Amino acid sequence: MLDEARRGEPPRMGGVVEVICGPMFSGKTEELIRRLRRAQIARQKVVVLKPFLDDRYADDHIVSHNSQRVPSVRVESSEDVRLLGMNADVVGIDEVQFLDAGIVEVVEELADSGRRVIVAGLDLDYRGIPFEPMPQLLARAEYITKALAICVVCGHPASRSQRVTGEGERIVVGSTDHYEARCRSCFRAPIEEETHAKDANVVAEEMAGIAEGGRRQQDA
Ligand code: ADP
Ligand code: ZN
Repeated sequence: MLDEARRGEPPRMGGVVEVICGPMFSGKTEELIRRLRRAQIARQKVVVLKPFLDDRYADDHIVSHNSQRVPSVRVESSEDVRLLGMNADVVGIDEVQFLDAGIVEVVEELADSGRRVIVAGLDLDYRGIPFEPMPQLLARAEYITKALAICVVCGHPASRSQRVTGEGERIVVGSTDHYEARCRSCFRAPIEEETHAKDANVVAEEMAGIAEGGRRQQDA
């Protein structure tokens, strides 16, 4: 469907998709900010977007764990990305894994229309399972950067986000407090039942810090 729809107009020159992926704390946001700032210095028209779900630190900025920040616009859906992206030369999206599956088509369209699209997101969820729609974006991208953090257990390069919240505990906003970077050998996947039975949307909500009872539990 997606690829058929694209057979109409020939893509414009210069469009490109860049994906920055990796676990939490690997510097994805830092790297996204670095690229977007350089585009701004070059006086390109830059729009910076993040899904509504990502509540960490600030309402209207993308913010890295080392407190770098760039003003951003919140989006609720891939349709918002399409509308806002059309007005820019460079479109940056942080936490792209929290957007709906339609983002794949939107990113392709924006790049086909000559834009530079830079997206950052988790490639794996806390179970160590690929986080849709990242695999789709990675396969279509021209450039891929896989960032690694430092394993908090052994100090080796970390590719996994370990959930460290106690079992049954409610996940709250500011959810990065409940995760730590781990390498392949120090990572412990949750019990089998939870790993495979859980709905992918529930996992996404948990990682975005939304508890069953609603959002902003921490501030309440
Ligand atoms: P991401 O967007 O991938 O979650 P950020 O760009 O927000 O990452 O933050 C990266 C920063 O996180 C690093 O520069 C460092 O200051 C901090 N940090 C905290 N814990 C770790 C860790 N275990 N490994 C690497 N960096 C860490
Ligand atoms: Zn380790």
